[in-house]
Amino acid sequence: MSKEKKMNKNELLNLCVVGAAGRMGRLVAALAPEYGFRVTGALEFKGSPALGEKCGEAVITSDIDRALSGARVAVEFALPEGITERIAKYREYGIPCVIGTTGVSAEGEQALKKAAETIPVIHAANFSLGVNLLAGLLKEAAAALDDSYDVEIVEMHHRHKKDAPSGTALMLAASVEEGRSVGKDRELYGRFGLTGERPRGEIAIHALRGGDVAGDHTVIFAAEGERVEFTHKASGRSNFAKGALKAAAFLTSRKAGMYTMKDVIGIGKK
Ligand code: NAD
Repeated sequence: MSKEKKMNKNELLNLCVVGAAGRMGRLVAALAPEYGFRVTGALEFKGSPALGEKCGEAVITSDIDRALSGARVAVEFALPEGITERIAKYREYGIPCVIGTTGVSAEGEQALKKAAETIPVIHAANFSLGVNLLAGLLKEAAAALDDSYDVEIVEMHHRHKKDAPSGTALMLAASVEEGRSVGKDRELYGRFGLTGERPRGEIAIHALRGGDVAGDHTVIFAAEGERVEFTHKASGRSNFAKGALKAAAFLTSRKAGMYTMKDVIGIGKK
């Protein structure tokens, strides 16, 4: 038994977790071995109370050179501040990076694009495999069902969520628009009062808020005589961490370039 364990351990690839003490970082570190990784680097910001704590086989540090030393891939769920400098380091060390950090500035996005010329990169607003699969299915559905099918998107999140509609709802709307070859001008956010007849081709998005809902999204295609509904429900954050680790495993065998979760899942390749 010990031999098998040892062999498996030897096969694990070195992973650096950036934002290691955060909600997502801790989950990524905990799930890493299931996806073929061992955490050998763990980065936090200078002054983090978590500095010096163990994280997998690593000790949490604010020294990026130390955290990235020997890493085969980096998974980042941190804050956007300082991302340009971190990207420069991923590039310098030639380390593929999976970026889950949101709210990245245009300058940061530009730095990621540039980095993708020399290293493999994935930056996704939602790493859930289910949501990314749904996005691909919606594009197909929207292409197959003409605009006699009215599209209504309904999302629900916990009461603490600050933005509406959710980024994921917008991403799903974009998939429908891609399938229909139409632009964002078809989107409508909520209805109130004497709205008149529903315009053909409108893509309406509605945001519900309450309780502790982690994230529900339903996309309805409603025509005369039938209705098709696609629903995704997130019950926690581990699906985001698992998706990011799958993306990390994917990147370790890829050439330089900007990849998406669709590439990881293998959908939308027709
Ligand atoms: P969090 O606040 O719990 O964790 C963020 C961690 O990053 C903290 O521990 C913080 O100290 C650390 N950090 C801040 N600046 C840093 C720096 N310069 N270097 C290293 N570490 C630094 O937040 P969270 O819920 O774990 O989310 C983190 C990020 O991931 C957010 O941007 C969030 O929106 C995003 N997120 C993305 C997805 C997705 O699927 N793409 C899912 C969930 C969260």
